[in-house]
Formats: sequence, C-alpha cells, structure tokens
Amino acid sequence: MSTYCDIAPGHPDHGPYHDTEYGFPVRDDDRLFERLVLEINQAGLSWLTILRKRAAFREAFDDFAVERVARYDARRRARLLQNAGIIRNRLKIDAAVENAKRILALRRTHGSFANWLDAHHPRDKDAWVRLFKKTFVFTGGEITGSFLLSTGYLPGAHAPGCPVHARLAKLGSHLEFQP
Ligand SMILES: [Zn+2]
Repeated sequence: MSTYCDIAPGHPDHGPYHDTEYGFPVRDDDRLFERLVLEINQAGLSWLTILRKRAAFREAFDDFAVERVARYDARRRARLLQNAGIIRNRLKIDAAVENAKRILALRRTHGSFANWLDAHHPRDKDAWVRLFKKTFVFTGGEITGSFLLSTGYLPGAHAPGCPVHARLAKLGSHLEFQP
C-alpha cells in the first residue's frame, strides 16, 4: 500500500504540504484553527480538493482569525454558502463558527488552543477522540485523528523511511519544539 509519503513528494499541491507542514508542530491558534476547519471540510472529499481550495478558504474565513470567525452572523454564513471557492456545506460552515467559539473558551481556561492541546498531550487516539467530541463539534474519530497527526500530537504522520520523518525526529518531542 502506498502512503502519503510515497505520493506527495514532488506533487504541486501535496509536495509543499508534505514537506513543510504535515506532522510539524503548530503553535499559532489561527493556524491550528485553520487545520481543524480544513480537516472538517475534507470529510467526504479528497485532501487534494481541500489543498486546492485553501487560498479561497483563507480569504473567505478572514485568514482563520478565531475571534473574527466566532462572530460570524447568519448573514455572513449565508454569504459563505454562496462562495464557490470553498465547500458550500451549511453544517461545515456552522461547525467552523461554533468551533471558533469553543477555541475562545479554551483560551479563557488555558491561554490558547495550543496550550490546551499541550495540557492533554500525550494521550492515545481514543482518548483524544473522546476529548474532542466533548470539546468541539463535527469532530469524529477520523477528523480528530487526521488533525492530530497533521499537527504532530499523534505519531505516525510520516513513514519511517521518509526524509521528513528524520527531520521531525531531530526536532525532538512536540513539547520541546519551539519554532
Ligand atoms: Zn513523509
């Protein structure tokens, strides 16, 4: 079976994501929120579709500024539903807004989304999924697992033989890494 590490390198869309983002720790809350929203939007679609729409997503969602998205009203959501650049799915758009609100709540208790993730790291995937289910919306096992793999909170994003695997190993554990 070929893995993402086999198909991504050199690909115009997958390549840069694989080489510089996938599995790398993320500290910035807006960027973490972006990844969560993108993973939610991938449900039922290919990751390639999402990567190709990423620029349009950033534009449509105010570059994933958590405070701004948390304030989107019914009119703003209706406008997003008309935006052909993104995935026009009411449930996914509502999930982005609701999850932005949930992240603001985590900031009040933990200072940031990243701090909240760190506070619960490490734990196994099942425990993360239970935690995400009670903390966020639209975060089932697959979406939660993909989000945590892609942000380095679960191991195994890259195949052992992948050059990026070695680069990430050199960075050390997630909590020691400081960009
Ligand atoms: Zn890889």
